[in-house]
Amino acid sequence: MELEQLRTECLACRRCGLCETRTNVVFGVGAPDAEVMFIGEGPGEQEDLQGEPFVGRAGKLLDDMLELIDLDRSRIYIANMVKCRPPKNRDPLPEEQAACAPWLERQIALIRPKIIVCLGRIAAMKYIREDFRITKEHGQWTIRNGIMTMAMLHPAALLRDPRRRPETFEDLKVLQQAIRDFCTHTYIE
Ligand code: URA
Repeated sequence: MELEQLRTECLACRRCGLCETRTNVVFGVGAPDAEVMFIGEGPGEQEDLQGEPFVGRAGKLLDDMLELIDLDRSRIYIANMVKCRPPKNRDPLPEEQAACAPWLERQIALIRPKIIVCLGRIAAMKYIREDFRITKEHGQWTIRNGIMTMAMLHPAALLRDPRRRPETFEDLKVLQQAIRDFCTHTYIE
C-alpha cells in the first residue's frame, strides 16, 4: 500500500464523530521517503481549513525552527496523532484517538523514518512513554520500535512561553547532529 493510496482512504475516513465537524482531513505533508518525521497532536482551525498540518501561528514557528537547522517541509514528514480537528480545539476523546491511531501507524510503517520527533507532551506520552515528562526529558533520545525518538516542546508552548526557546534550540542542534550521523539523504542536495 502506497502513501498516496493511504491518503485517499484517510480523506474519506468516518471512523469517529470528528468526521461530522471537520472541514478537511489533515493527513500529513512531506517527503514519502523522509528520514525524519515530526508528530504533532491534531489540527487547529487553520489546519482544518487548509488541510495541512502546522499552518497556523505555531506552524510558522515550526517552520522557523526547521530553518535553523537547514530543514524544510519537503525534506521531512509532518503528521498529527489525530487527523481531524476537534470542535473548538478541545482535546480529542480517547475513542477518537484510538480510532485515528492506525492511520499514523501506517504512515510510519510506509515512510519508515530513522528519526521521530514528538512535538509536545501528548505525542511524547503516546510515542515514547506514558509517563514522559516533557519539561525534563525533551531532547533525549529513546529507541522505540527501532526508531530514534525524541520530544521537543510544542511550538504552541514556545509561543506561550518564549523563555523556553533556548532549550528548544539545544534540542534542534541535537537533532541536527543525529541527522548528520544517521541519515543519508536529508541534508544532501
Ligand atoms: N498543533 C498541532 O499539534 N498540530 C497541528 O497541525 C497544528 C497545531
